[in-house]
Amino acid sequence: MEKITQTAGRNQLGDFAPDFAHYNDDVLFGENWNNQDIDLKTRCIITVVALMSSGITDSSLVYHLENAKAHGVTRAEIAAIVTHVAFYAGWAKAWAVFRLAKDVWKEDELTEKDKFQNSIFFPIGEPNDGFAQYFIGQSYLAPVSKEQVGIHNVTFEPGCRNNWHIHHATKGGGQILICVGGRGFYQEWGKPAIEMTPGDCVNIPEGVKHWHGAAPDSWFSHLAIEVPGENGSNEWLEAVGDEEYRRATEG
Ligand code: MN
Repeated sequence: MEKITQTAGRNQLGDFAPDFAHYNDDVLFGENWNNQDIDLKTRCIITVVALMSSGITDSSLVYHLENAKAHGVTRAEIAAIVTHVAFYAGWAKAWAVFRLAKDVWKEDELTEKDKFQNSIFFPIGEPNDGFAQYFIGQSYLAPVSKEQVGIHNVTFEPGCRNNWHIHHATKGGGQILICVGGRGFYQEWGKPAIEMTPGDCVNIPEGVKHWHGAAPDSWFSHLAIEVPGENGSNEWLEAVGDEEYRRATEG
């Protein structure tokens, strides 16, 4: 189990009250917080409840709210805990604690796009406005390599897909897709769609009609690698209609 260490006592009161600092850092935190008869998450909740019940809503409560979050207390859980205690300890105390808790858990108000970004290594980049006319739904584009071999990270919101298209070249050419996040599909004309999850690679030869995009219920990112060739061009064709997309992605 994680060993709890604490230096706040000595940092803040080491000169003024050395014994208190010693009891705080070595006994309360050094021994009591490391007692394993209660798990740490529960111990964090008990501490928050004790401080709230005592009406202590200063920086020490902020510390213990942050500690509770660090040990797995979610935004929904802290809201339920404070609401529960409000009935026993007092309504006004709950208001005071909520003001602090909202701040501690504020980054949990992330958008779905932010959450997906935090789950992948490559940047999502900017809205893919230049190619939006060839997509259904919102896509994003982030250049990864602009020299030698062009590599872009392409991100699709749930349900987003590009139109049927062909990567043409007179020699070489084509495209490689490597999924780097979420779940999506690749489909060649006349064949069933292939599901793509992180690490999956698809090699698209020159001249093959295909589309790629997200699953209906998941964000999706793939690296798109332009295979070097001669006289390369993209031919954009018809959109993948809703019914066609549904049949392809339902398997
Ligand atoms: Mn393609």
